[in-house]
Order: sequence, then C-alpha cells, then structure tokens
Amino acid sequence: MKKLALHWQILIGMVLGVVVGILFTYFDGGKEIIQDWIKPFGKIFINSLKLIAVPLILASLIKGVSDLKDISKLSAMGGRTIGIYIITTVIAVSIGLFLVNVIKPGNSISEKTRQELVQNYGESTTKYKEQAALQKQSGPLQALVDIVPENIFGAATNNKNMLQVIFFAILFGIGLILIPEEKASPVKKFFDGFNEVILKIIDLIMLAAPYGVFALLAALVVESPSVDLFKALIWYAFTVLLGLLIMIAFYNLIVWLFTKKTPSFFLKGISPAQLLAFSTSSSAATLPVTMERVTEHLGVDEEVSSFVLPIGATINMDGTSLYQAVAAVFIAQAFGMDLSLGTQLGIIVTATLASIGSAAVPGAGMVMLVIVLAQAGIPEAGLALIFAIDRPLDMCRTMVNVTGDATVSMIVAKTLGKLGKPKVKDWDDNYPKK
Ligand code: ASP
Repeated sequence: MKKLALHWQILIGMVLGVVVGILFTYFDGGKEIIQDWIKPFGKIFINSLKLIAVPLILASLIKGVSDLKDISKLSAMGGRTIGIYIITTVIAVSIGLFLVNVIKPGNSISEKTRQELVQNYGESTTKYKEQAALQKQSGPLQALVDIVPENIFGAATNNKNMLQVIFFAILFGIGLILIPEEKASPVKKFFDGFNEVILKIIDLIMLAAPYGVFALLAALVVESPSVDLFKALIWYAFTVLLGLLIMIAFYNLIVWLFTKKTPSFFLKGISPAQLLAFSTSSSAATLPVTMERVTEHLGVDEEVSSFVLPIGATINMDGTSLYQAVAAVFIAQAFGMDLSLGTQLGIIVTATLASIGSAAVPGAGMVMLVIVLAQAGIPEAGLALIFAIDRPLDMCRTMVNVTGDATVSMIVAKTLGKLGKPKVKDWDDNYPKK
C-alpha cells in the first residue's frame, strides 16, 4: 500500500489528538494521564525543533551568503536583488502586523480562557514584564549593540541570542566570498554538507510530526476545555491567509507596474511552481520547477534567474515572515500581553531576519518563529497554540514564498534589460519536467 503523504499523516495526528483529548476529558484522571504520558512527547517534539535552530541558521545563512560567489557580482545584481527582497519582506511583515492588530485573532479567546492561559504561563509573563522594564532602562541603540556578540560560542548557547548568530553567519559568509577560492572551497563544501545534514535532521524530526502534533493537541484539549481557543485559531488562520492573499495581489500589481505583464500571464506562467510549492511545503524542492517556469514561460534571462532564484529560495520568504509576525502577535494577544510599538517594530526586524535565516523546507518557518518570540519576549510555550494549524499554513506560505522569488526575478531582469519574450507560450506543456 502506498504510504500516506506527510501532510495527511499530520492532519490525522491532529484530528486524533483532538478526539483523544476530548475523550479523556470525559473520565476522572483522564487529564492527568494525558499530562503525564502524552504531553511530554509534545514537549520533546518542540524541544527538538528548538534544538536545531542555531545550527540551522549557521548552515543555511553561511551557505546562502557565500553562494553569492564574488563581491562585484554582488554589487550589481546582488545589491538590487537583496534590496528588493528585503523591501518585499518588510512589506509582508507590515501587512501581517497591520492585519493581526486590526483583526486581533488572539482576543477572541474569552477572558476565562485567557486567564487560564496566563495562569498556566504566568511565570513567563512575569519574565516578559521584567524584560520590558529592563529594556526601558537601556538606551535607544541597545538593540543594535545587542546584535553584535562578544563571543560566538556564548551567543550560540542561548536561543534568545539568535540575532547575534545571524550577524556572525552573515559576516562569515562575506569573509568566505573575500578569501581565495582554494582556501574558501573546503569551508564552503563543509557548510554545504553541514546544511544537508541539518536539512536531513529536519526531515527526521518531521517524521515525528504526526505524533508530536497528536501529543500537543491532546494536551491542549485536556488543558483548555473551552472551545474558545479553537475558534481563536480559526481567526488566526484567517488572518494569515488574508495576508497571504494580499501578498499575491501585491506581486501581480508590481509585476504589472514594472514589466507591464498582466496578472493572467504571470499566474499562468508560475502556477505549476505554485502548486508544487503548495504540495511539498518546500521552496527548495520547488526550485527546479520555479527556474524552468520563470525562464521558459515568463521570459527572464537565465543569467538573472540562475542567480536570483536560488538566493531567493534561501533568503526571500515573504509568506513565512508575514506568518511569523501574525503568529507572534497572536500568541502575545492570547497570553493577554500588550505589545508596545517598539516591540512591534522589533518584530519587523526579527521576522525579516528570521525569514532570511529560515531553511526552504517544511516547518522551518516555525523553528525560526522561536527567535521572533524570544526577541519580543513572548513565551515560547505559545508555539503549542499555533502548531495545530501550522502545516496547512506552511503549504500556503510556501506558495507565497515561491511567487515572491519569481516576482523579484522578473523585476530585476526588467531593470537590467534581461526580460525577453517567453520561449514557450503554452503554459501547460513540459510539465512535469524531469
Ligand atoms: N516551508 C517554507 C518554505 O520552504 C518555509 C517555512 O515557512 O516553513 O518556503
């Protein structure tokens, strides 16, 4: 019999988790059984995701930056590409923050549930308040100072210092570009291999995902008997999806403004890659198809697409950054926290950097969300709130990530005079291509 696809397995895990959770609330001691014997597996699963956060940033960011190859190429095409990538990501995070502040999905949890949650996670809330008080005492440039670690090993021992690890990884990548090739080559190969290992570990962890979500959901259900939380999750999902839809409309608009290509031309050209992104939840796995569609069907010169798209798959994740912003504020709202404007501006920076550091594989956005939460002082325990619905949202945000890469490749090609006529007009031929 054919093995069920992972996303189906995860969905089944979720449904079973909810069902088992509900069943166990019906008899005495059921809640305790789940808490003692099921919940720890959810904790182990979340821990294993957090465990790989630091090595993941180091490997994927060093590889991403060093793939730029040489500094002069970086200044012409690279500068433009990265500039537009960052602008679109900041726009995505801002749209996410705007929507989550207007819709307030976390506030649809009743006062009682919120109190229960705050009570359960009271300790973290106190810590948050203490941190906020500390932050008030420090100067305006403290955040900048905090980005530069005085000791990389010190920085790498605490998930809260992820920005420092990101800083080091970027610096390391630039150093790799600047040294002679024969010296750089073994180091690059090492990080290439290292990156592969990390991606494989994520694969392995994802194998446990159906059981992890089962445990998390079962524990969530017995611990929050109120259905409010799930209603609130629906609003959270709605907020993310609305933001993603706005991003797709935004891409079509800027493609039209810059290249005069119509939305139907653009969407017909890129849709097979979008579908693949949706089904695999991985921009990396979709990359060969994205390259083929953009070059053959959208008319982008190969010189541009071969440079812009692989970098985009590694660092440009608008869907992921939008989701991270919504998720972070949603969790804060669910915990009854009021995020200051400064903290929300901080989220723009951390979600942008975290999406850059996210690997182009399923679930990577959630791993990096830990950093956004830690930097904003939002309890990491809140991950349990959103995990249930993460996979379907991952599928949708990956679709947006890939569409964003294709959009930027068209704009960069246009500004460099490298956007020509598509080689293949029939949008459906050649697919699936080997
Ligand atoms: N799955 C996403 C991608 O590959 C990353 C993420 O948001 O988890 O683009």
